[in-house]
Amino acid sequence: MKSRLVAGALLLMIPILGACGNTSSTSSEDVLVVSAALYPIAEIVQRVGGDAVEVVNLTPPGTDAHDVELTAKQVQKLEESDAVFYFGDNFQPGTQKAITALSGVTSVDLFDSVELLNATIAEFNSEDEHADEKPVEDEHNHGDHDPHVWLDPANMIAMTKEVVSTLSKLQPELASAFAGNGETYIAELTEVGELLDAEIGIPDGKTASRCDDVNLYTAHQGFTYLAHRAGLTLVPIGGINPDEQVSAQYLESLATDLKGKDVTIFYESLITSSATKALADSLNVTTDVLNGVEGLSNEDLANGITYISAQRDNIQRIAKALRCS
Ligand SMILES: [Zn+2]
Repeated sequence: MKSRLVAGALLLMIPILGACGNTSSTSSEDVLVVSAALYPIAEIVQRVGGDAVEVVNLTPPGTDAHDVELTAKQVQKLEESDAVFYFGDNFQPGTQKAITALSGVTSVDLFDSVELLNATIAEFNSEDEHADEKPVEDEHNHGDHDPHVWLDPANMIAMTKEVVSTLSKLQPELASAFAGNGETYIAELTEVGELLDAEIGIPDGKTASRCDDVNLYTAHQGFTYLAHRAGLTLVPIGGINPDEQVSAQYLESLATDLKGKDVTIFYESLITSSATKALADSLNVTTDVLNGVEGLSNEDLANGITYISAQRDNIQRIAKALRCS
């Protein structure tokens, strides 16, 4: 009943918003134009804002989020935005630079809403006795953190709350609608988290894993947050940025570890990893595909794939691969 009332309230807004007399869909004074650095943020803003916001995703569908360079048109759209939500820490250097140069636009770094976890390879570097054998040639400065925070639904919930708060400050008269929309989305995200805990995870963080294998092999270092929540160990075949060159020593040690083992290596949607293919081919292991939801392809979008459905699918595939019971 509550969500129907909220939807009704938003529908009633539309004629009012549309009555401002401006025929341009992008410059109505009452519709908030909100830029989002990449897909998961765009989904949050869309779900919270509903029809009261125009969402601009700065990472085009089907492209690798790491290496986005904004076009002049996108920069202009960014400058016209009422707010922009992004991730700092040089995760998307081109986007961050454009956002830093803005004035008069509410800019929110959503990393401030979550707890950042160290990148696996950074830990590997500092703890391994062969620490001098640097596995990744780090061309980009990502700090020591894995930026893919959205893969733990709890972080999506924290970021949703921040978006509700920011949009409500920008348009106080819609605060209760934003709060209601946020609650609906948070309920769906909570269910994804519960599915993760039920299928793979160790909710108390102490008991032994219910999975035969706790190592999660992925094409790049994107699943730290999901692995951390589920009590799994992420073993990335590539770096934080999929373009980073992984050292031959690192790949050789992985190949030696995996030889003869019954494991699944995961490719990732939108990421091309020749190292992953070479490793999988040389070992003759099972392969599958995870969707890191850094972006969705046009095909995914046309098929109605969302963060929620992609994560549910990821969880089932991981549970199967690691033989969790
Ligand atoms: Zn990534």
